Amino acid sequence: MVIGLETHVELSTRSKIFCSCGGHSAAKEPNDCVCPACSGMPGMLPVMNKRVVELAVTAGLMLNCDINRYTTFDKKNYYYPDLPCAYQITQLNHPICTNGCVTLKTASGERDIHIKQIHMEEDAGKLVHIGRASYIDFNRTSVPLIEIVTQPDFRSAEEVLVYLNKLKSMFRSGGISECEEGAMRCDVNISVRPEGSTEYGVRTEIKNMASFEAIERAIRYEAQRHIDAIEFETEKLVQETRRFDDVSGKTFAMRNKETEADYRYFPDANLMPVIIDDAWLEEIKAAKPVAVDEKADFYREAGISEKEIEMLIHNHKVSETLDKVVSLGCDAKNAAGWLLTDCAGILRKNGKLLGDLEICPEDLAAIIKMVDNGQVNRMSGRKILTAVIETGADPVAYCKENALDARVDISTIESVMDNVFKENAKAVEDYKNGKVKAKQALFGACMKALKNTADTAVIRELLEDKLNRC
Ligand code: ADP
Ligand code: MG
Ligand code: ZN
Repeated sequence: MVIGLETHVELSTRSKIFCSCGGHSAAKEPNDCVCPACSGMPGMLPVMNKRVVELAVTAGLMLNCDINRYTTFDKKNYYYPDLPCAYQITQLNHPICTNGCVTLKTASGERDIHIKQIHMEEDAGKLVHIGRASYIDFNRTSVPLIEIVTQPDFRSAEEVLVYLNKLKSMFRSGGISECEEGAMRCDVNISVRPEGSTEYGVRTEIKNMASFEAIERAIRYEAQRHIDAIEFETEKLVQETRRFDDVSGKTFAMRNKETEADYRYFPDANLMPVIIDDAWLEEIKAAKPVAVDEKADFYREAGISEKEIEMLIHNHKVSETLDKVVSLGCDAKNAAGWLLTDCAGILRKNGKLLGDLEICPEDLAAIIKMVDNGQVNRMSGRKILTAVIETGADPVAYCKENALDARVDISTIESVMDNVFKENAKAVEDYKNGKVKAKQALFGACMKALKNTADTAVIRELLEDKLNRC
């Protein structure tokens, strides 16, 4: 099996690629993010969105591409109702990024996938068919996309899925795209050949699939169709474009493969070339977030478990909070525990998910430090955290108002202990007669009397001492 992918990703910009209409996900009703430019009114001119260039370059850096300092736009001409200008603005001659490479970790070892290019382009609108009428929604026209084209380097559906998941987590953590369903769409080019052969077979292209599940099913079906065609001469394979039908799980021919000439590409004279100078490139590089792999390595070195690393990589907001808490001086492994166990537990109790976490990193760092330096015990720390998450309380004020400070003076503790010993004379007697377990009961009674705020280590020590003396 030989597969090459063309992946379209909607960029998370505030506005569209060539006008100031709201970008992806800004729209509430059909056609409410539309202006004369993106609805193709005669004479309107496109104006390049700088942020699109920056996000495309960031994606290129993440995929180890060459960044082309001189990049231009071309018109790809075709006629369809969802394309009001009858051409799509895309890049053919000078795409923004070329020659990249990503390494995949698959069950059968590491695999390098080469990236042919990344180019910027605008999305088309949407047709909505209701009964016998068709409606056009232009909200999506001119939403910015990057298209990432790989070399035919994949050899299985598994590899394709590892790649797509990697793009997804990279782009989400890099603020390039949220990659929700529909915001990441794939064309799958596939061919088969006898084992050991070095020549490629006839390829077909399955267009525009938006779910990973559909992509996997389509690949398995299409590869088998090719194999049957060759081995049992069930049909003659031709290079063509096909669509995948979710219900039957089969692919169907849509059209003969169109060639470049069919689109009458020509440079878009309405848009100036974009030139990326050294200073701008440096600025984009400096703002580029740490790549997922580097981040995972950092967490690994800090002693965070693989399972927790996976949770962090998939919860961009949480890992961002962790990084901030660490930068405020907390230990990474310890802080990860607070986030993934304590915060997650409190959220779960409130019927929420880890992804819903809204905690200011300074507050969490303050709580962790209070526990670490013995100002409050672990239990009180968790109590403060609960108040911060549930009611937005201030950690320091909450600790004070609820008298959670563990640094109770020794004379107070001693008088509390005297009382506990009097009230639990039986347990004290038991302990002296060799029933070691009785100590635990006395410890519990002391903690309870001190409203669970005291430093547990201090109590244990004083208790031990007092028992030895009586
Ligand atoms: P076109 O210009 O016809 O779209 P490209 O060279 O841009 O062709 O290739 C499109 C995609 O098809 C790329 O992702 C490429 O890796 C893939 N591809 C090319 N040849 C094959 C093949 N024989 N089998 C599978 N995929 C292929
Ligand atoms: Mg192509
Ligand atoms: Zn517009």
